Amino acid sequence: MAVQTAAGNATTASPDLGPAAALSCRECGERFELGPLFACASCFGPLEVAYDLPTGSPEELRKRIEAGPDNIWRYAPLLPVPADVAEKPNINPGFTKLVKADNLARELGVTGGLYVKDDSGNPTHSFKDRVVAIAVEAARAFGFTTLSCSSTGNLAGAVGAAAARAGLRSCVFIPHDLEQGKVVMAAVYGGELVGIEGNYDDVNRFCSELIGDPLGEGWGFVNVNLRPYYGEGSKTLAYEICEQLGWRLPDQIVIPIASGSQLTKIDKGLQELIKLGLVEDKPYKIFGAQAEGCSPVSAAFKAGHDVVRPQKPNTIAKSLAIGNPADGPYVLDIARRTGGAVEDVTDEQVVDAIKLLARTEGIFGETAGGVTLGVTKKLIEAGVIDRTLTTVVVNTGDGLKTLDAVSATSQATATIKPSLDAFRAAGLGTA
Ligand SMILES: *Cc1c(COP(=O)(O)O)cnc(C)c1O
Repeated sequence: MAVQTAAGNATTASPDLGPAAALSCRECGERFELGPLFACASCFGPLEVAYDLPTGSPEELRKRIEAGPDNIWRYAPLLPVPADVAEKPNINPGFTKLVKADNLARELGVTGGLYVKDDSGNPTHSFKDRVVAIAVEAARAFGFTTLSCSSTGNLAGAVGAAAARAGLRSCVFIPHDLEQGKVVMAAVYGGELVGIEGNYDDVNRFCSELIGDPLGEGWGFVNVNLRPYYGEGSKTLAYEICEQLGWRLPDQIVIPIASGSQLTKIDKGLQELIKLGLVEDKPYKIFGAQAEGCSPVSAAFKAGHDVVRPQKPNTIAKSLAIGNPADGPYVLDIARRTGGAVEDVTDEQVVDAIKLLARTEGIFGETAGGVTLGVTKKLIEAGVIDRTLTTVVVNTGDGLKTLDAVSATSQATATIKPSLDAFRAAGLGTA
């Protein structure tokens, strides 16, 4: 927006994104004005949002947050969004349940407190609503009228819903062979949905080309040219977990990895809470979870490498099937720096873990949730995750979107005529 100054010179007003001050390069630290940029002009490193964070007492800030709405906008002072964000049409995700999972803890022998952060409770039933809600505000600030993304499924649905609510056009891209639940959830909100014949990495490459072409002009790709803003949405998982634990850091957190953005931004959120004095400064460990059929970060972690070698995904955990994860090296760094680890599990272990969570806690997670709990179980049994410490497992999506994973082994116990004799004959009932 052009603004006339008193001297009559036209200047460009910086967009109102609240406490966001600039974009800064994660590699060389160079700063850039807020805009739809994602790579450093000097070294091509990824950009992230830098803030003027609130000053004043932690007590005051805590009170201000607690008095805020029951969604991610309670943390608006720590996010790249305008102060009046809660009054704008958005999907308002967040403040999902942190479930104390005592039955699961008993089964796994965890004594230090085991929690499931259940993000299936978001508006489109995955954690992606958090990142999209922030990207919508950036899109508005930069004047984009079409919202787009490359997606492994959940993101497409979240973008479709958020665009519908915000009155924006949407056109989203997915691999053509996703689960029916993901496809329907992406299409039902009325935007354009394009299946690409290829895997996620092909979809992503296509979108990068589209951004540089007149066909994609004026489009906000939430996870490409709006990626620095999008990523910040994942910080709210860290904020909520700590607030829900009574403004305490957990000792151990287990997080699934697709591109690795969520894991790196949860770490960023925890660091901010420490810096602001909202939680006590103490060590915590971050663990990353992948499926064996798409485990480039886990493989690099185990081999002691700093770089991630791309893989061709083949797993039922399609929401995590990114063979060339953009944030892989940062994930490795965080896991090593905090004393955590990155591990993977087989598809069979994913299915077992989905059913374990369902039968112990009444939570039906999607395959990504199965990956995360499967890895948690594996690392507990290996003595890598400490049973005596407070542990949070993030369930990032809803099992209703990935029914095929468990449908073969989750069927009616019996199908009978409506008679007591038939019920008895099937060996059911008390007597
Ligand atoms: C996208 C996604 C993730 C992880 O995403 P990152 O790219 O690593 O941020 C985890 N779980 C589910 C269900 C997802 O859809």
